[in-house]
Amino acid sequence: MIVVLKKEANQAKQDQLIDWLKGMGLGIHISKGEYQTVLGLIGDTSKVDMDLIGSLDIVDSVKRVTDTFKCVNRQFHPDDTVVSVGDVKIGGGNFAMIAGPCSVESEAQIVEVAKAVKAAGANLLRGGAFKPRTSPYDFQGLKAEGLELLRIARKETGLPIVTEIMSVSDLPLFEDVDILQVGARNMQNFDLLKELGQFGKPVLLKRGLANTLKELLMSAEYIMASGNEQVILCERGIRTYSDYMRNTLDLSAVPMLHELSHLPVIVDPSHATGIARMVPPMALSAAACGADGLIIEVHNDPIHALCDGAQSLKPEEYAKLVKKVEAVRAAIQ
Ligand code: PEP
Ligand code: MN
Repeated sequence: MIVVLKKEANQAKQDQLIDWLKGMGLGIHISKGEYQTVLGLIGDTSKVDMDLIGSLDIVDSVKRVTDTFKCVNRQFHPDDTVVSVGDVKIGGGNFAMIAGPCSVESEAQIVEVAKAVKAAGANLLRGGAFKPRTSPYDFQGLKAEGLELLRIARKETGLPIVTEIMSVSDLPLFEDVDILQVGARNMQNFDLLKELGQFGKPVLLKRGLANTLKELLMSAEYIMASGNEQVILCERGIRTYSDYMRNTLDLSAVPMLHELSHLPVIVDPSHATGIARMVPPMALSAAACGADGLIIEVHNDPIHALCDGAQSLKPEEYAKLVKKVEAVRAAIQ
């Protein structure tokens, strides 16, 4: 249930209403927008008297919401959420250009790529230290050492770092990571999501390989319901009948997620297609349909990359793409 308060609602009366609702055992999600305050009632609202609440002089309207996701729901929170990492903002008109290699391989590699993507216009650096690989015999990432190399690259360039966390037990290593990525394979690792809700750092949540939008939103709900509002959703392609590409990029997810939720939505055209030459057209399409950012794999030497070389752009290709993305964004303003 959502309760929209009148613009001029008196603060003492608002507090009284909130205390009364909490006394009924409900959780209250308060969203203070520019023009109105919206209360999201979380829990069993079946016994709440809508008419009584609607009759209060500070209440503008009361609606029952059937969607099971509350915190992520745009109905509760009409304004776009803006995720902040230092000076970088994502969402609400702010565009994230996240770029870097699939995996961190060495100091020379990550620092070279970080400098190149920064020069090209990226505002965040990606790089996997803990890698979820299909085969246990493939490169699994440099783990703690990889995180250390990302810190060095951040120091050299000033770019905040985005890197994947696979397990709750690794959380202490991620204290100074700027954005923690939950990969597609972990989208429904509910224990991890709950811990990230309390960890207090922005989370980049990728859609699972075969998950619906509602399931993605419910996973984001786990993080938000545990207290963390800084969540970014990411469409990264889903499993369909795709034969020539790694996945099918579901771009219609972007406007639909924007309709359903206030959270920023970014797109990963690299994992969606698995082919470097497919990345620019899909990245431009994502910008055209209103994505709040792009996460793109870039490698200084794709042929020798330890992971995902075939889908990695070279720095000069990335630089050309950034200019085109800017042109598309300007065209749709
Ligand atoms: C990644 O971004 O490094 C990654 C493994 O992506 P996904 O979880 O989308 O497969
Ligand atoms: Mn990858």
